[in-house]
Amino acid sequence: MDRIDPKHLAQQYKDVQLLIDGQWRAGSGGRTIAVLNPATGEQIGTVAHAEKADLDAALAAADKGFKAWRKVAAYDRYKIMRKAADLMRERADSIARLMTMEQGKPFAEARIETMLAGDIIDWFAEEGRRAYGRIVPSRADNIQQIVTKEPVGPVAAFTPWNFPINQVVRKLSAALTTGCSIIVKAPEETPAAPAALLQAFVDAGVPAGVINLVYGVPAEISEYLIPHPVIRKITFTGSTAVGKQLAALAGLHMKRTTMELGGHAPAIVFDDCDVDRAAKLLAGAKFRNAGQVCISPTRFLVQEKVYDRFVDVFTQAAKALKVGNGLEEGVTMGPLANARRVAAMERIVADAVEKGAKLVTGGKRIGDKGFFFEPTVLTHVPAAARILHDEPFGPVTPIVSFKTFDDVVAEANRLPYGLAAYAYTSSLKTAAAIGAAVESGMMSINHHGLGMPEIPFGGVKDSGYGSEGGSEAIESYLNFKVVSQMTS
Ligand code: NAD
Repeated sequence: MDRIDPKHLAQQYKDVQLLIDGQWRAGSGGRTIAVLNPATGEQIGTVAHAEKADLDAALAAADKGFKAWRKVAAYDRYKIMRKAADLMRERADSIARLMTMEQGKPFAEARIETMLAGDIIDWFAEEGRRAYGRIVPSRADNIQQIVTKEPVGPVAAFTPWNFPINQVVRKLSAALTTGCSIIVKAPEETPAAPAALLQAFVDAGVPAGVINLVYGVPAEISEYLIPHPVIRKITFTGSTAVGKQLAALAGLHMKRTTMELGGHAPAIVFDDCDVDRAAKLLAGAKFRNAGQVCISPTRFLVQEKVYDRFVDVFTQAAKALKVGNGLEEGVTMGPLANARRVAAMERIVADAVEKGAKLVTGGKRIGDKGFFFEPTVLTHVPAAARILHDEPFGPVTPIVSFKTFDDVVAEANRLPYGLAAYAYTSSLKTAAAIGAAVESGMMSINHHGLGMPEIPFGGVKDSGYGSEGGSEAIESYLNFKVVSQMTS
């Protein structure tokens, strides 16, 4: 792909509207929010800002949509969803381009995310057809005990900017396959890719009102939708701090919730592993999406004997990254998604260095245009450094050493988070032991294999609860009903 002129990009990016009751429309107050390209810092478009009246319209649409959609046979819902999946694949190039323009990640990563959306929709569509109930033998022969599953009702979904499509499609697909309607509050910073996703469902034939999309002030929207009697389930992906607030509000109003929150994933490297392979694979995972991934490996715990070798190979991989505009050929790491992340990286690097960490590579923002930050490696990071406590959510890597299995388990489980974890070892015994000992919702050993549609995706402790993958993801959109019926 050739170099892209930013002016040309701005022309390609379309202003994004709200989707309410099957219609794309401006906010009723006419307000909009600017959308920036993080590679240039310049405005490329706008997104409509929903007012209370728009939220009321979305709630009325979701209520109406739910009443209609729950009656559509699982088989017919499946057919519509499969069509949406095909449309996502057909449109992958143009959708991925929009995503890179608004979010920054390299085009290849944006394209994988868009194609994976097709897989996720397909998987949920198929699984929804298998949301069976059961008949439980009764204690009397004239009684039949029937257990059925019913859709929980209209859903309010809140999603962040790091995976503009992936974060929406898991929630949307679980809702649709079970017969729920949904109002998605997608990220204002990256609104066009989620809008393209919802458009695929509209084009595939999802009836008006079943799926709705709003943008605005996140806190105002969540405070209005969560307590509203129409909404029966809340699903949120984002920071632990915000997740706790939303879960508390949902609890007050007795709403079902799924919370996919922050993590601080230990990446444990035992000295019996193939260190070069581990360093290369972990560097690939660490710098994907410039480190703005909730399951990114973030606390590198390397056994003493292989520490220096690991740091060397990892640092070479970090230095080999080509940082730039994600639409340019060969770029392997884009900018951070917004100016807040650059400021956060500057703070955590300064804090670690001040407390005694060694800066091996990187550590600074790049240029004065856009939100670029160098792939960064810190070694000998002292326990007091903030980066060993707070999720970096960016391309900064702290690498610390450990002595024994028990030491590393204690360090891995020290924080209140428990989302993802990684380990490298050539011993099956160690692999089994570390898999059992680490407190996390997901663990990948000797490879990076998390996030497939068919396996659960979610955390424990402060990383939240519930799942966004596997059949567990569907269960949380269903109510169980018992009908005990006298048959004679
Ligand atoms: P933030 O905590 O302000 O926002 C995180 C997300 O929550 C955003 O999408 C935002 O729109 C939404 N949000 C914030 N307040 C809300 C509210 N009251 N109601 C509904 N939605 C609300 O932080 P940020 O600066 O956007 O991101 C920084 C931190 O957020 C990161 O350090 C990371 O920990 C976390 N984050 C996590 C994920 C994830 O995939 N788990 C994704 C993005 C951000």
